[in-house]
Amino acid sequence: MNDFITVIGGGLAGSEAAYQIAKRGIKVKLYEMKPKKFSPAHTNKNLAEIVCSNSFKSNLITNACGLLKEELRLLDSLLIHIADETSVPAGQALAVDREKFSQKVTDVLKKNKKIEIINAEIGDENLHIRDLASRGIVIIATGPLTSDALTKEIIELTGDEGLHFFDAAAPIVEKDSIDMNIAFWGDRYDQERGKEEDIEEWKKRIEGLKDADYINLPMNKDEYDSFVNELVNAEVVELHKFEKKEIFEGCMPIEIMAKRGMDTLRFGPLKPVGFTDPRTGHRPYAVVQLRQDNSEGSIYNIVGFQTNLKFGEQKRVFSMIPGLQNAGFVKYGVMHRNTFINSPELLDDTYNFKDNKNIFFAGQITGVEGYVESISSGLVAGINACLRYDKISEQTNKAVFDEKTMIGALAKYISTENKHFQPMNANFGILPALDEKIKDKKIRYEKLSGRSLNILTHSMK
Ligand SMILES: Cc1cc2nc3c(=O)[nH]c(=O)nc-3n(C[C@H](O)[C@H](O)[C@H](O)COP(=O)(O)OP(=O)(O)OC[C@H]3O[C@@H](n4cnc5c(N)ncnc54)[C@H](O)[C@@H]3O)c2cc1C
Repeated sequence: MNDFITVIGGGLAGSEAAYQIAKRGIKVKLYEMKPKKFSPAHTNKNLAEIVCSNSFKSNLITNACGLLKEELRLLDSLLIHIADETSVPAGQALAVDREKFSQKVTDVLKKNKKIEIINAEIGDENLHIRDLASRGIVIIATGPLTSDALTKEIIELTGDEGLHFFDAAAPIVEKDSIDMNIAFWGDRYDQERGKEEDIEEWKKRIEGLKDADYINLPMNKDEYDSFVNELVNAEVVELHKFEKKEIFEGCMPIEIMAKRGMDTLRFGPLKPVGFTDPRTGHRPYAVVQLRQDNSEGSIYNIVGFQTNLKFGEQKRVFSMIPGLQNAGFVKYGVMHRNTFINSPELLDDTYNFKDNKNIFFAGQITGVEGYVESISSGLVAGINACLRYDKISEQTNKAVFDEKTMIGALAKYISTENKHFQPMNANFGILPALDEKIKDKKIRYEKLSGRSLNILTHSMK
């Protein structure tokens, strides 16, 4: 067996993983295809390139990404330390000088005697995952724009169904923020009052539908018309050139569908057929459906609402839907190029590939979404790759982070069965609820963060 661990991809996740491995005294070979080859979004020859916004989001612990960063600081994340050192003024957010950030990560990793950086593309010429994994442990951290040659090799590992090429994700809201005086439970046709069905019997029957898969939001004609008018005029995100073709072929944004005609949505994702509004006893004019998104049932996605609307516009327009007027959005809809594997089928909660324990995945390719989330998965995969390296001939040890921490909740989310798996960023909706019910969001988030940091601090003693 190799006396080193291989990391493929020197982006945010791969650089963090390499550091964590070297810190534990194990040698690393870090393969990065730049500067020989660049993805359509990468331009800088350094490691840990920030491809777009220079913001690592909020530093407040009442923000989910703020909590994740705080956890990573406790866990000695190299990249978060360097982000702090190279930060630029951005109010409560952590924004970095992108050039200094990448340069510093590159310098630190280059100087580390345990780390050898090799500029080569895996999947090309004589470098293949299967060979590397047959001789030792490999972490694949090649990001949302993994090269074509390596993508082919990943498909060989995961099967055709195991890999996705773009996100077409609908927004996700916290269940507790849905107005259940307006919303009602039930699957299409199951919930509808039958022609002969006694009204009292029906009311009793639908009371028992609380475990149904869907929460439904009924609209009358005025509400529907105002919603569609705002939707078609809302501001959208400008896509990168390399993204445009693939997305529109694969899946249609809700705002584009709405532009086809006033009734298009009513005959599509907002179809009211098969429902009776318990408040009126009649079929609504349109129905928006919400589907459970995590196993705890604390977050719900808006079915069919994949969108390119700007985030602020999503909040404004989607909050017009009756029942969502106070919705807490834990994730906004996105549509962009993104290579990611079907992690719930393929990975465990340490980002380890179930079919070949010598392989780990890390970063955006696992279905975590965002800079900080990618760093967090690199840290978890790096630590667990070391445990596997140490115990290779014995029973393997795992370092699973508590699901009440954000770092643990993300690992759990991507590895838990989910028929409609879509990438996920840090958000409070994926943490298990507190024992007490707290209505005030700020206080609730403070308590959730306090609980997480407490657990992490104690586990490190
Ligand atoms: C266009 C775009 C914009 C984004 N904007 C944001 C944003 O503003 N905020 C945010 O939080 N997230 C953003 N993301 C999402 C995501 O957080 C980042 O892409 C993040 O960099 C992911 O980290 P990573 O380590 O998984 O991948 P990357 O940082 O992309 O690193 C992957 C590395 O692997 C290398 N590589 C690829 N294939 C091979 C191969 N075969 N052999 C060797 N090396 C290889 C690449 O050159 C790259 O250096 C964006 C993504 C994209 C594509």
